[in-house]
Amino acid sequence: MKITAIEAIPFAIPYKKPLKFASGEVHTAEHVLVRVHTDDGPVGVAEAPPRPFTYGETQASITAVIDKVFAPQLTGLAPTAREAVHARLNRTVGNPTAKSAVDMALWDIIGQSLGISVTELLGGFTDRMRVSHMVGFAPPEQMVAEAQRIRDTYGITTFKVKVGRRPFMLDVEACRALREGLGDDVELYIDGNRGWTASESARALRAMDGLDLTLAEELCPADDVMGRRWLVSHTDIPFVADESATRPGEVTRELLSGSATAISIKTARTGFTYSQRVHHLCEGLGVEAVMGNQIDGQIGTLCTAVFGSAYELTARRAGELSNFLDMSDDLLAEPLRIEDGTLRVRESAGLGIELDPEKLARYRQDT
Ligand SMILES: [Mg+2]
Repeated sequence: MKITAIEAIPFAIPYKKPLKFASGEVHTAEHVLVRVHTDDGPVGVAEAPPRPFTYGETQASITAVIDKVFAPQLTGLAPTAREAVHARLNRTVGNPTAKSAVDMALWDIIGQSLGISVTELLGGFTDRMRVSHMVGFAPPEQMVAEAQRIRDTYGITTFKVKVGRRPFMLDVEACRALREGLGDDVELYIDGNRGWTASESARALRAMDGLDLTLAEELCPADDVMGRRWLVSHTDIPFVADESATRPGEVTRELLSGSATAISIKTARTGFTYSQRVHHLCEGLGVEAVMGNQIDGQIGTLCTAVFGSAYELTARRAGELSNFLDMSDDLLAEPLRIEDGTLRVRESAGLGIELDPEKLARYRQDT
């Protein structure tokens, strides 16, 4: 079986409410659907969600690099030849979500051709993940109301709270309100997106002592090298590296240098092949891993769940699988459903992605 063509289809789906960043607002998810065609029949599908403010890719850059650089280099290779595929992709630095979507589509083809799901192909630990929901910045009472609504509607009992504001007491008060409003039965952890210094982080964690937080992610920048190591050595909960450790080499460096004690794995930026390598590093070095979200749509969320449920280490924790709830629609013929706080992978071969042709026609931007 040979790769005959790779399509990169830009599509846009409005969010139910705008996503707010420090630098502005985003009203629409502008993602890229990747389809890898073969001479034997199977078509692999995956989704690339560009994050211009984090990784520098845009919808236009992803379609261009796939059309002009990756597709010509990969056409004619076997979908199973992942080492050869990545040797060619890696001639180009950067472009993590474009590479990852191609990689995941190849695994989809391999699963389809073997008649087994990609979860079974990867590791086959289980067929589902518990779901963690991210609570964004808002007045504390709104954050509590949102978390209660999500718990009552979807049965989700794990919440990741965005922190990193100044003064840090804003976030301390929000976390206290969430613990009081949700009770002791929910799991709470925090993600600072590098918003604090090491000493602010230490003071904030001290102020939140007693709230039973289970993880602290990227509270201060990894580039504040000594400060970050000092903070991690003084913190008694796992300290997660996310954007500071996206490739196996970075994961090794951050863990061995004492700048992190847990890793966030995002299939949107490491596909399945490199997520596997990051997972194996975490297992070998003996640290925890959490499946993170790159504001994925439903296809990307399914890919995260497919990978996370394949391994015991990643299935142990709730995965961040609920961001798609903010989108007004999606491309899947059968939408994802979160029930009892759980998202199940599909039983069909490969990734089990079936697109709704009418929705694809409505949201694609290249016709
Ligand atoms: Mg993060």
